[in-house]
Amino acid sequence: MYKPTIGLEIHVELKTKTKMFCNCLNENEKIGSDAGLTPNKNVCPICLAHPGTMPMSNVEAIKSVIKAGLALNCQIAEKSKFDRKQYFYPDLPKGYQISQYDEPLSQNGHIEIAGKKIGITRIHLEEDTGKLSHIKDGTLVDYNRAGIPLMELVTEPDIESGIEAKEFCQELQAIFRELKIADANMEKGQMRCEVNISISKTEKFGTKVEVKNLNSFRSVERAIDYEIKRQTKVLESGEKIIQETRGWNEIKQETYSQRIKEGSADYRYFPEPDIPTLHFVQGISKSKFPISKNNEQIFIDIEKIKTTMPELPAEKRNLFQTEYGFNVADSKILTAEPLLADYTENIISEIKIWLKDCGEFEGSEADIWLKNKEKIIKLVAGWLINKLTGILMAKKLTWETNPVTAENFAEFITMIFTHQVSTKNSGILLESMVITGGDPSQILETENLKNDDSFDLEKIINEIINKNPETVAQYKNGKTALLKFFLGLVMKESKGQADPSEAEKMFIQKLS
Ligand code: ADP
Ligand code: MG
Ligand code: ZN
Repeated sequence: MYKPTIGLEIHVELKTKTKMFCNCLNENEKIGSDAGLTPNKNVCPICLAHPGTMPMSNVEAIKSVIKAGLALNCQIAEKSKFDRKQYFYPDLPKGYQISQYDEPLSQNGHIEIAGKKIGITRIHLEEDTGKLSHIKDGTLVDYNRAGIPLMELVTEPDIESGIEAKEFCQELQAIFRELKIADANMEKGQMRCEVNISISKTEKFGTKVEVKNLNSFRSVERAIDYEIKRQTKVLESGEKIIQETRGWNEIKQETYSQRIKEGSADYRYFPEPDIPTLHFVQGISKSKFPISKNNEQIFIDIEKIKTTMPELPAEKRNLFQTEYGFNVADSKILTAEPLLADYTENIISEIKIWLKDCGEFEGSEADIWLKNKEKIIKLVAGWLINKLTGILMAKKLTWETNPVTAENFAEFITMIFTHQVSTKNSGILLESMVITGGDPSQILETENLKNDDSFDLEKIINEIINKNPETVAQYKNGKTALLKFFLGLVMKESKGQADPSEAEKMFIQKLS
């Protein structure tokens, strides 16, 4: 068996207000989208490389990369600088890209993916290039993207499968979103992933192949799986792997050879003379070392950046599991988007109040919560992930434009829990809540959803379980044939309207 070895090189556009070395607007969110941006709108003599212009460092971008470094357990450099990477291509007006060569902003980090450590070699900062579009009569160039701050992250060759690479990229996206430094949407080109893959039967790594232009998490996973199979076939047939760059054909779902590497390109790196050296100091006072664009040196206080670090997705997932009791998969979904995570947490604190105030339960707010938490959390997860997400998507809404307040959603869950609304009508009710933004009890009255003349399956089943404790005990002791007896009761109570397979599922779930 060949063992796959995978390392990633990931570029992420930072969502700073302005570009990396000039004051042009950074509107990266509009670049890959349908909304579009007039070509060459955000340009100036600096990002168009007019002779005699001077770049000025964007301190917000530098701080963003430091935040990423801290979140990914990296060592932050004490001193860092920019370098010129020379190459000629029409999307690069200067004829060189300002990047970082031997003194990146941070190095030697790691994160855990499903309990396994993936090493992060380095994270540095550079500038994005313009965009070329090839048309019939030639090539058009748009410099709106030229000079947008671009963070580059390189991993150690620690990844072993397509799914692991995908999960790593998803975790990075969640972290960058939580840090509010990037949207990192792969489809929009805000996050670009190059994968390096080799396979080997021994400890010594095989020849690696690099795959480019992957623009979704899914294609990262599939391209890797494809390459592992392709390389295995090549080696099995006695041939050698050629070190090359390959592209990903989304339609055929396969990689194809783009160019064969002839040694490494000589970029003739040298230190960028027009940008001051960066110094990262712990706990300096701002008045003593002002962050200056014009001085010869720029001082940035890491301690201060540390105080602005939010709770990271991994910690949040952990909290969602241990504190609230969401299962692993749901915790992951609910914390992947910071707005959804906040929404969920607000819903839970509102539900605690609703449960106490609805008058159906005795005891303190904390007692009532502890007693009912398990079932409530299941309801919250189900209705948020399976239902509300779908309704919002269908109506082209997002968590940002979601009309259902946490308080209203909490009341809605409480109403389902206390059987004020049938399972069947709950879906209609939630949809009305999205359309009107109103509160559920009012909608229940006005839309007459309360007087549900059909039956409530869950209520019937709960009653059957409560009325037949002995039969339930026998069932739990292994007499599973009794399920038929229960289903008979359901059909009788619902006057034949219940869906037997749904009823069966619900019984099994409740009695397990
Ligand atoms: P290059 O000089 O070709 O760019 P680097 O040493 O900079 O190569 O590594 C680029 C990426 O490739 C890193 O993510 C690294 O972990 C990964 N990598 C290095 N060697 C291998 C290998 N044999 N197989 C798979 N990935 C590798
Ligand atoms: Mg490299
Ligand atoms: Zn500019």
